[in-house]
Amino acid sequence: MRTTEGFKNITPSAAIRPIDRGSVHRICSGQVVLNLGTAVKELVENSLDAGATNIDIKLKDHGAELIEVSDNGGGVEEENFEGLTLKHYTSKIQDFSDLIHIETFGFRGEALSSLCALSDVTIFTCHKSAKVGTRLVFDHNGRITQRTPFPRQQGTTVSIQQLFYTLPVRHKEFQRNIKKEYAKMVQLLQAYCIVSKGVRINCTNQIGQGKKSCVISTAGSPSLKENIGAVFGQKQLQSLIPFVQLPPSEAVCEEYGLNPADMPQNLYSVSGFISRCDHGVGRSTTDRQFFFINQRPCDPAKVVKIVNEVYHLHNKHQYPFVVLNIGVDSECVDINVTPDKRQILLQEEKFLLAILKTSLMEMFGSDVNKLDVNQKLLDITGNLKKTLPEEAEKPQADMLSDSETENSSGEGKRIMTLARLRESFSLQATESNFQSSIKVKQQHNSPRQRLLVTTGSTVKIQKAVLTKKAESCHKLDSKVSVPRRHLIKLEDASDSGFCSISESDAGCSTPEAGSCINSESAVNSEEEFCGTEEQKQEECLQTAGCSKKSLDCDVQVLGTEPKPDLVNDWTDQNKFSQEANSCSPRVKRFKSRNFKSEADDSKAGKYPEEKNTSVDVLVEVKKKIVPLEFSMKALAEKVKKVIQQQQKNTETENYRRFKAKISPGDNKVAEDELRKEISKEMFAKMEIIGQFNLGFIIAKLNSDLFIIDQHATDEKYNFEMLQQHTVLQGQKLIVPQNLNLTAVNETVLIENLEIFRKNGFDFVINENAPVTQRVKLVSLPTSKNWTFGPQDIDELIFMLSDCPGVMCRPSRVRQMFASRACRKSVMIGTALNVQEMRKLITHMGEIEHPWNCPHGRPTMRHIVSLDLISPQ
Ligand code: ADP
Ligand code: MG
Repeated sequence: MRTTEGFKNITPSAAIRPIDRGSVHRICSGQVVLNLGTAVKELVENSLDAGATNIDIKLKDHGAELIEVSDNGGGVEEENFEGLTLKHYTSKIQDFSDLIHIETFGFRGEALSSLCALSDVTIFTCHKSAKVGTRLVFDHNGRITQRTPFPRQQGTTVSIQQLFYTLPVRHKEFQRNIKKEYAKMVQLLQAYCIVSKGVRINCTNQIGQGKKSCVISTAGSPSLKENIGAVFGQKQLQSLIPFVQLPPSEAVCEEYGLNPADMPQNLYSVSGFISRCDHGVGRSTTDRQFFFINQRPCDPAKVVKIVNEVYHLHNKHQYPFVVLNIGVDSECVDINVTPDKRQILLQEEKFLLAILKTSLMEMFGSDVNKLDVNQKLLDITGNLKKTLPEEAEKPQADMLSDSETENSSGEGKRIMTLARLRESFSLQATESNFQSSIKVKQQHNSPRQRLLVTTGSTVKIQKAVLTKKAESCHKLDSKVSVPRRHLIKLEDASDSGFCSISESDAGCSTPEAGSCINSESAVNSEEEFCGTEEQKQEECLQTAGCSKKSLDCDVQVLGTEPKPDLVNDWTDQNKFSQEANSCSPRVKRFKSRNFKSEADDSKAGKYPEEKNTSVDVLVEVKKKIVPLEFSMKALAEKVKKVIQQQQKNTETENYRRFKAKISPGDNKVAEDELRKEISKEMFAKMEIIGQFNLGFIIAKLNSDLFIIDQHATDEKYNFEMLQQHTVLQGQKLIVPQNLNLTAVNETVLIENLEIFRKNGFDFVINENAPVTQRVKLVSLPTSKNWTFGPQDIDELIFMLSDCPGVMCRPSRVRQMFASRACRKSVMIGTALNVQEMRKLITHMGEIEHPWNCPHGRPTMRHIVSLDLISPQ
């Protein structure tokens, strides 16, 4: 228990007083210099601001022990020694108005003073006017404690020892993550090396008493291109094309809502280099992307986005190397946004984006074919009058997109014409990464989903619907309505996530339709579907598995009659597992609530009483009326009991632990809930209720029921096992291959050789060779249909610079494992006995992230809390 002791000092009457200067300094400094990267960056910027043409950066133990930056710049005059390290003392601006024309990197006078507060700072400097240099030692308040003559040539050396040691917690964290910090710092430094024309920058690192190793080195060339070559090697240069600026095209202006008439002239001038878009020429990560505004390295998020987006249109699976400088009038930028000055505000940013988009599209060559193909496909099916938006960004998405017609707005009213249906079947094999196309497949292709539809639920087709145009009769998911208590929607089913199939596993996780259930062949067999409207209407119904006769009555989707007599007690395992087309009222009830989605809401007009149902709300339980003998005494006793029970309940669990809907929009929430509420050991405690639709396991934990996708969960387990235990076989190369790595990347590789070996990559290391040529590739992983290469090595290096020493796999190896895992895993449509189900669920408790299959499909969802169904 907390005593009042702890609050003693904070009496309500305490006066508001300023924090003493020293403390303020300490408090704020930690926010100016955040990490190794900022420290080095600030020092290099100071040297550049001082007009240096030669900058040497010396690190000891990756910078944790010492950072020393020496330059041949102007040096510091004696009269400025005192001000050098005082907060907000700068030689660069005098008042706010100067900020508008700022051309130096620094202007706030914070870096040196902050570094003093965070470490031991010594500065050696010799101004051009001084005869001899001076050595200055500073205390943590930035005051000079020692001042001695020190011979040196013109310029300044700033030496930082034990960065962050004045902040113990940060210091520990800093040392723990030093390699990660170091990798980030190098990336920052690369930007300065590239952009600083005519400045020779050299960085070395020494570990303990070991040999100094070169981290990065440029030759002071006046050309951007040569700087790039110095940092990344000549090979990188061969893959680059220069940026050619064009004024925004009409189409792009329209897209950005720009009026060509009032566009500023010559506001921006963009120059630089970018990877060619040929297959394989780009990079597997964004590790080499450098953006500058007026030569200042920065992270202009929207610019980064548009550049990558346009590049992806032409080279879908790679990222470009980018060096882009955006020249703009200094009056139109605000640099003073964040402490590290990397977020920069730009005037007329849209205009810049339009320039970039137009120019890049032109540089990579316009890609009209994709749109043409789309149009033709649509014309052939002849059912879609809508013209596709000429949005070049998602031509693929359009190919298979949900046909949202003009009058339908938003997610809720997704309308599916049969033509589109057929199209999506015929294009099933066509690759597409886009969510929307996947959705179409989900809605109409997944046996799982169809199974859900067939499951004893009756579907009433509204007569009114049928009298409408043929097209509207195809609107299966929005028009087929299901009686309230048996409500499973096509869309819901897919939206529940249990039916979603990502592109890559569409082919393998779904068993042949026939092997699951015959009646659904109806959905697949509308081949000759192009008759009169009448026919269409009829066939539309057939597609839904019903004949016209049954219009007014409840009809069952896909032709099976409801069998009330077969409705079994859902807790009875034996019956439950196999009777796909029967299910208990209780099951139906919770389905009706849990599979509800936006589509339901769109029908709210017809069934207003449905409008407010939502997940896990108390459901009306149908009660029989039976005459009862009444006794006041018994009643009183019962009431007493109930009250006691309620008290007990409120003590234990009086909150709803699972609230998320089963819908893609709620995936994250659902996953968070599961992560929070279900710990690893709980899986073993789950009671297995039975198998549902030959695809799902229903399990119970205390009063909560869960539905588990048998394929997805097995797939995830197999995937994790492959990830952890597979040692990929390497194949020796005839000739060892040079890798053109940067000095840092080379070091990362050498330090993580074991991880590379587990991935099938092997190298020979020649310690005596010059840096960047120490490593040669001698063995590559092989697998039947997969080839790997230097791209995958780059990607691994990128991951390992972030988390050194942590086992990881290149994304393509993961893909390979994912597809292997998929093939290995139990299919939907396979009957499982209790033991098998138990095994799958136990496995969930053995892996780190059991909530998604490797393709991202959810494995498990909460369906209902039984407490909410029967409150007592
Ligand atoms: P800012 O760069 O924002 O002015 P700093 O704290 O980084 O603030 O530096 C304070 C001042 O110290 C600078 O304005 C500059 O006059 C001087 N200075 C710092 N580093 C150097 C250097 N390497 N060479 C010459 N002068 C320097
Ligand atoms: Mg500075």
